[in-house]
Amino acid sequence: MTFSKIMDHSFKKMIQLRDYQETVYQDTIKAINNGSRGILIQLPCRSGKSYVMAKFVETCKGNSLILAHRNELLNQHNELIEGLGLLNKCRLASVFTEVNHLGEHKNPLVILIDECHLSEANSYKKIAEYYGCIIIGFSATPTRLNGDRLSLYDTLICGVSVKYLINQGAIADFDYYAPDIALDLSEIDMLGGDYNGKQLNDLMFNSAIYGDVIESYKRLGDSRQAIAYCAGVKHSKKVCKEFINAGISAVHIDGSMNKTERKKIMDLYRSGYYTVLCNANIISEGITLPNASVGLLLRPTQSLALYIQQAMRVLTPDGNGKKAVIIDCVGNYQRHGLPDEDREWTLEGIKRKHKTNNEDGSFTIRNCPECFRIFKTASKCPYCGHEFAVKGRELQCMEEVRLRKINEQEKIAMAEHKKKQRMEVGMAKTKEDLIRIAKERNYNPKWIFVTAKRKGIKL
Ligand SMILES: [Zn+2]
Repeated sequence: MTFSKIMDHSFKKMIQLRDYQETVYQDTIKAINNGSRGILIQLPCRSGKSYVMAKFVETCKGNSLILAHRNELLNQHNELIEGLGLLNKCRLASVFTEVNHLGEHKNPLVILIDECHLSEANSYKKIAEYYGCIIIGFSATPTRLNGDRLSLYDTLICGVSVKYLINQGAIADFDYYAPDIALDLSEIDMLGGDYNGKQLNDLMFNSAIYGDVIESYKRLGDSRQAIAYCAGVKHSKKVCKEFINAGISAVHIDGSMNKTERKKIMDLYRSGYYTVLCNANIISEGITLPNASVGLLLRPTQSLALYIQQAMRVLTPDGNGKKAVIIDCVGNYQRHGLPDEDREWTLEGIKRKHKTNNEDGSFTIRNCPECFRIFKTASKCPYCGHEFAVKGRELQCMEEVRLRKINEQEKIAMAEHKKKQRMEVGMAKTKEDLIRIAKERNYNPKWIFVTAKRKGIKL
């Protein structure tokens, strides 16, 4: 299958892509021409990936199928595709519906999958196998929780970085804080690559950190509208209650509420009626809240995808140069680095975790004990000027690296010294040479006789 068979560029193009989107689009076409059957496109949240998707729909010679796992996402794609007048050549379906209705529709030429880091699930595989067509997946975080490869794809195409989008104004800039809040996760089991959700919900529900969380919000969040990401519904309700008790307007939302109820809450939040929106990951991709500018991370997670999705949600620009604040109360930055860290994605999956130490053993990012800001290794906090005294685990790491380096240097020096000595003996031609060497090196006189015999020097 080549580009010319499935893509049609002969008609007048409607969709004008931004430069980096066009590059990704063209690279995908090249990959298809080279025989690729599954292309994974990595683009950060808010990079306009739905336009890239629409471009494929526009230029496809036949029908496309857009798959997503959440209705909010599907509605968003539907709105764009309909607005562009492309609904006649594209079908949109939830993966759960599609897998139960295979064979009831015309076969698509291309399947476009949103949030395709989830496409290792059986339903996606079944759909892919049934249609056997070209698959183009999109994800901001093309990695599985267990680090294994995403098997539907043979080609990975990476778009722009989060930093680039911040510089372009497509994503709001942010300050990242990690208040010093004691939390012991050592008793929590792992389940499918992340912390056991129920145990986590219980632990966070019972933890004594509510006062600290509200204090941190008051000090760092500056009464601005916030989204609190909690460990579970029970935890989220409690967080909401604590905010209300502290005199801050808050509301809880979860998936068990009906559509009307959820819409009412969201509308009131958008209008500014509520200040803090508490949830357990229901406010995710597909929901745009430009007014929300404080992200409260209250759910520890091992999932890079979940972390990035939650941290990025408050980075929707408001058109007025908004600077967001992320308050990480659970140390997620220690597990994953900062949300705008440059990451190397591979189809093999990420086996290597976030790099915690620099070459010299110092931490890659430090947490200022004065202002709680997170910054790249420096001796002084770039925000408040606090002079950083290296101690504890970091100091130990740096010392270990220093000693290892000294050992390595000593080994090299020793090897060179020995080589020199061997060369000197090799160049010795007379009895006098050997005597001098033996004296200098404090050798046993027997060495002179043995060496002379070996080298054929007359004594
Ligand atoms: Zn500081």
